[in-house]
Amino acid sequence: MKENWDVVIVGGGLAGYIAANYLAKYNLSILLVEKEKSTGGRAKTKQMKKQYFNLGPHALYKNGIAAKTLKELSIQPHGKKPTLQGILMEKDSIYTAPFRIKEILSTTYLTWHERKEWVSIMVRLNSIQSTTIHSLTFKQFVEQIVSSPKVQALLYLLARLSTYCHAPETVSAHVIVSHLQMVNGGVLYLDYGWQSLIDELHNQAVLSGVTIRPQCKVRKISSREQGHFDIIVDNQEYLQSKYVIYTANPSDLLTILKLEKYKSFLQSIIPVKGSTLDVALTNLPFPKRLLALGIDNPIYYSVHSKFATLSNDTNTVILHLFKYHKPNEHIDPQTINAELTNTLSKLQPGWKNALIAKRFIPNLVVNQRLPQVGDEKVIRELRNPMHHFYLAGDWLSTSYMLAEAAVESGKKAALQIIDKERMYMNASQSGRL
Ligand SMILES: Cc1cc2nc3c(=O)[nH]c(=O)nc-3n(C[C@H](O)[C@H](O)[C@H](O)COP(=O)(O)OP(=O)(O)OC[C@H]3O[C@@H](n4cnc5c(N)ncnc54)[C@H](O)[C@@H]3O)c2cc1C
Repeated sequence: MKENWDVVIVGGGLAGYIAANYLAKYNLSILLVEKEKSTGGRAKTKQMKKQYFNLGPHALYKNGIAAKTLKELSIQPHGKKPTLQGILMEKDSIYTAPFRIKEILSTTYLTWHERKEWVSIMVRLNSIQSTTIHSLTFKQFVEQIVSSPKVQALLYLLARLSTYCHAPETVSAHVIVSHLQMVNGGVLYLDYGWQSLIDELHNQAVLSGVTIRPQCKVRKISSREQGHFDIIVDNQEYLQSKYVIYTANPSDLLTILKLEKYKSFLQSIIPVKGSTLDVALTNLPFPKRLLALGIDNPIYYSVHSKFATLSNDTNTVILHLFKYHKPNEHIDPQTINAELTNTLSKLQPGWKNALIAKRFIPNLVVNQRLPQVGDEKVIRELRNPMHHFYLAGDWLSTSYMLAEAAVESGKKAALQIIDKERMYMNASQSGRL
């Protein structure tokens, strides 16, 4: 069977859906194909025993690009901003986390001299033009502006919290600082999980005429002639399209499409990874323990249901523990699971008696690419590596990562196609085509 489309979008995650929704405003036939049974990608939320589990801890920047773009599409994320009141864990000690004035003054983690440096760097961060630090890794940047090792450790911790990157020696300072500036505006934990965003994007796309096809894996794409593609999907069916937006993994791209020019870059991409323990409880043994972050050991713990509805039963508790991994780190899933479980036992002794459901997933790809110094030029080129072919996803932004990058690049790809179509239309009206 052969089908003809104006645009085929590969991948039904945030990037694919954002692109579909922008394109749907124009008179184009659009097919979105997704290899899994259900769409959503890493923004999926799974219901287990009536509890809503995101794929690990998910928080949406309140003032980020994703929130603004969703607003343009008339989608309003619902949820609450979590407080930053919590504790820091270092070896066997715990300290009040110095993220708000009251706690900066009361924490025993910092001396008065360190407190002063911490406050001044927090203020300074906002005014740094992130584009002026393009050539620095985050570690180089931190060492240039902060002298105290404890304040440096706090900045590394904040970088992990806002980007999941546990690689100050390699990650680009520009991208991390862009996120630290955004995180200042706060984040939202979303009611009923990130699936709520996917569901709205899905419904809106379908109502606007986009065809969504799950269980349809793209195997090969070839350019038949300038700007026309043959796309082979699972069962040897094939599609034809004028434009393609590819939002899936960089690692599969080379087997799907011939892109010799970018082969070595694509092969050198390192994903940002971590392991998650998602837990639902009937109650919290220690209800005030809502946030804990490891300083020496890169661990995260947060009670998401305190700030978002994540269950059909209002009394239950959903929390996430997360271990950030170093680039290319070899991990033993059993050890990580035991470590996260022990951390929960320290923070919430007796939690096992309140257990409703839990899920451990090791080695998840949080972001497809660890942004590194010098990546920008090739990323800019890769967004449109051949005529009528566009790439989008969380690895295709020069300034952002995570959902911010997925949404930014999905919108960009759609707008580029719309521009092209307008150009062709104007040219044909003026008799040039
Ligand atoms: C544990 C964890 C925590 C996170 N926390 C946050 C957070 O707090 N804040 C934040 O902003 N972001 C967070 N993220 C990142 C965020 O979820 C992702 O950046 C975003 O969802 C990526 O969207 P995407 O569309 O780029 O990719 P994906 O969601 O991966 O979508 C790509 C889709 O393409 C499909 N696909 C792949 N290959 C093919 C093929 N050959 N044919 C057809 N379909 C294909 C995949 O099945 C998938 O559905 C987190 C991610 C994880 C895993």
